[in-house]
Amino acid sequence: MESTKSKYVSTLVHELKPSGIRRFFDMAAGMEGVISLGVGEPDFVTPWHIREAAIASLEEGYTSYTPNAGIMELRKEISYYMNNQFGVAYDPAQEIIVTVGASSAIDIAMRTILDPGDEVIVVEPCFVSYIPMVELAGGVAVQVQAEKENDFKVLPDQIEAVVTEKTKAIMLCSPNNPTGTMLNKSELEGIAHIAKKYDLLIVADEIYAELSYDEEYTSMAAIEGMRERTILVNGFSKGFAMTGWRLGYVCSPAEISSAMLKVHQYGLMCASTMSQYAAVEALKNGRPDVEEMVKSYRRRRNYIVQSFNEMGLDCHIPGGAFYAFPSIQSTGLTSQEFAEQLLMKEGVAVVPGDVFGESGEGHIRCSYATSLEQLQEAVKRIKRFIDHL
Ligand code: PMP
Repeated sequence: MESTKSKYVSTLVHELKPSGIRRFFDMAAGMEGVISLGVGEPDFVTPWHIREAAIASLEEGYTSYTPNAGIMELRKEISYYMNNQFGVAYDPAQEIIVTVGASSAIDIAMRTILDPGDEVIVVEPCFVSYIPMVELAGGVAVQVQAEKENDFKVLPDQIEAVVTEKTKAIMLCSPNNPTGTMLNKSELEGIAHIAKKYDLLIVADEIYAELSYDEEYTSMAAIEGMRERTILVNGFSKGFAMTGWRLGYVCSPAEISSAMLKVHQYGLMCASTMSQYAAVEALKNGRPDVEEMVKSYRRRRNYIVQSFNEMGLDCHIPGGAFYAFPSIQSTGLTSQEFAEQLLMKEGVAVVPGDVFGESGEGHIRCSYATSLEQLQEAVKRIKRFIDHL
């Protein structure tokens, strides 16, 4: 719906479209008995020992600002973690900034690297915030469509085809929201080759790195020659079930990191103090919790993917994150029609694939970060909905 522009609102912000996910949340909010496969957040509560660490920090009276880049204890833990988990070394003093979720990490990255009119190649289907964040930073988002035929893996040639003199960076997300697709080492190498050939940065959103189910995870920064041109974004929301703590981080070479720190310092000052203490505990002692959650997500993924395929909704096996992205093309409905009718007739909320980009059309995003019982009921309802079409 077109709204009239207030004289107080900038043209840029006026023209931003509200997130297509919101509309379905709003519709579902007024209905009874809805099963939501719509939200992109863990159904687990943050493990108790992590919550306790935040409580302890409050008891100690740690209630003031921290250094802009975050407490050194946490930056050191992040540095160990990046090294142990992904084999990439970052200097905690100069190359790591603790941010307000991965969201603010992406935001400060964009505002740091873009001059007006600079282009960022964004691989769709993608997280709904990428394009607005590029645009809010004065950049131009150039979309490339990862196709279903390739299991939603973008091909290096597709990226190369849209590189121009203005291209500054490629935005990548693996495992991906909304498709769950994870890129393996050789696929990352193919994209890295393009970045090196044209001297581009890669903004690698690795927020779902912990949630990979079949193959070992490879970070873009671990690919040969890429540490120097990668802005690596990660955080605690997904792997550690800490969405509400608003804590993420960004690792990059000192030259980029010190520039990003200026943006972070003026815009946000620092991330929440108690959240930072909780995150130290998460990295020190949270591994068994993560492993338990991953086991549970894997079981649910296997169940929901198999169920979709059995009911005739073609669904590739997502290697990571907690989303299934089945095709609904066999129903003859658009993704918006499917999601709307499914919600109205059967009370199941899913997200239409077109909100994530052109190649997402013909699909729906279903989050399986919900209990197996709920998933079973949702599957029953979706099957009934399809049978009655
Ligand atoms: N990137 C992706 C791909 C996401 O799906 C999300 C959350 N939905 C974020 C970033 C933002 O995460 P955070 O809570 O750390 O800001």
